[in-house]
Amino acid sequence: MSDPHELTVLNPATEETVATVPAASAEDVDTAVVRALRAQARWAALAGADRARLLRRFADTVDAHLEELAQLEVREAGHTVGNARWEAGNARDLLLYAAGGAERLLGAQIPAPGGFNVTFHEPLGVVGVIAPWNFPMPIAAWGSFPALAAGNAVVLKPAETTPLTALRLAGLALEAGLPEHVFQVLPGHGHTAGRALVDHPDVAKIVFTGSTSTGREVMERCARLVKPVTLELGGKSPNVVFADADLEAALDPFSFLDNSGQDCCARTRVLVQESVLEEARAFLAEALAAVVVGDPADDKTQMGPLISRQQLDRVRSYVPEDAPALRGTAPEGPGFWFPPTVLTAERPDGRAAREEIFGPVAVLLPFADEADAVRLANDTPYGLSGSVWTRDLGRALRVSRAVRAGNLSVNSHSSVRYWTPFGGFKQSGLGRELGPDALTAFTETKNVFISTEGPAQ
Ligand code: NDP
Repeated sequence: MSDPHELTVLNPATEETVATVPAASAEDVDTAVVRALRAQARWAALAGADRARLLRRFADTVDAHLEELAQLEVREAGHTVGNARWEAGNARDLLLYAAGGAERLLGAQIPAPGGFNVTFHEPLGVVGVIAPWNFPMPIAAWGSFPALAAGNAVVLKPAETTPLTALRLAGLALEAGLPEHVFQVLPGHGHTAGRALVDHPDVAKIVFTGSTSTGREVMERCARLVKPVTLELGGKSPNVVFADADLEAALDPFSFLDNSGQDCCARTRVLVQESVLEEARAFLAEALAAVVVGDPADDKTQMGPLISRQQLDRVRSYVPEDAPALRGTAPEGPGFWFPPTVLTAERPDGRAAREEIFGPVAVLLPFADEADAVRLANDTPYGLSGSVWTRDLGRALRVSRAVRAGNLSVNSHSSVRYWTPFGGFKQSGLGRELGPDALTAFTETKNVFISTEGPAQ
């Protein structure tokens, strides 16, 4: 049973305590929202160029502490140090991108008889961001920084297992000169601090990233207050590999092993055309055996541990000891380790083929032809991401258009860039983050009609 007043942050590679942090109560959330409301009025009154200047200073301060932030992420989340450095850089880059948005939050001018209309993108007020543990720093940044740039105040609740980088970012914001209470981080439990943020009448919008089941609850509670919500939820993304593809690139095991598979975009359903199935199986067996799993602080490590004992138990439940599978290796002893695994005899309707496992586990599924590939790719309640591998450009485009998912890549496994829109179809979510429209998701559009007729005589 977790302590309601305190969070214990464990190093997932050693199970040693990294820090203890007070857990925010519902009253703490209320106090933070009251402070945020006051701060937001002044923040929104600044010219966009002034907000941009402060956010660029914040980016410079993050840049000066990049290694510190990365090392913190290694310790609290078990991320490989290479990934953690990328994550800190991503937070910095998004700040710079969002800062430019503050200067370009343009409205429209729409003519009408007797005058014209102008539109304004008004900030919403106080935005609540609820972040998960899988990418603590980037996901906190994606929800918070565009909202700040658009003139909102942000109250961020990080996951209880990973509050440290978010807290440090809030400290760096103050060091950079952002006004107090414009960006507050409140570590706490989802069922108290998270819920209090969702239910608070003065929180104008919730940005939630996490499981589909918690996201559904958040949406239901927001509906009672007609509160807008952005949801980034689970995934079970397909990697569609046609026989004419560059098989080695297509079957890169890090398409599902990156971040130990704790990635909502992980390509965990490896769909391979029947005629190259055996070749694919042989390649994956070798590739999994070669993955270096171990101390995430070591530059040579390719895959670290899972986040927690709970997550390890969850992942294990999908992989019975006797399940036909290709397996890599993982360290023994303390830490939440699970080896890279590909299940080779799972049915498309089996539990491991349908549910988000959030660990280094994929399923290998054969398909006959293009229509079969599209059918299988879409045979999931999720629709976040996916890859299509073929040298036939027409087929690549047909399949990309036919797969019902928000972020697809052709002959590549990339998916998230801070300058392109990100979000899911179906039960993978609602709304989009990042990209050129990131700021407008944190505004209301106001239309003002201005008469050019003189006052009535
Ligand atoms: P959750 O969805 O429960 O947690 C995500 C965030 O929501 C955390 O900050 C959590 O706080 C908070 N939260 C939990 N309950 C509530 C609530 N009732 N109201 C408001 N906020 C709440 O995910 P889990 O950590 O339980 O992970 C379970 C599974 O979810 C994973 O195995 C994975 O499949 C999926 N997941 C998907 C993610 C994605 O990126 N799409 C990210 C994380 C998980 P607290 O930390 O205190 O629980």
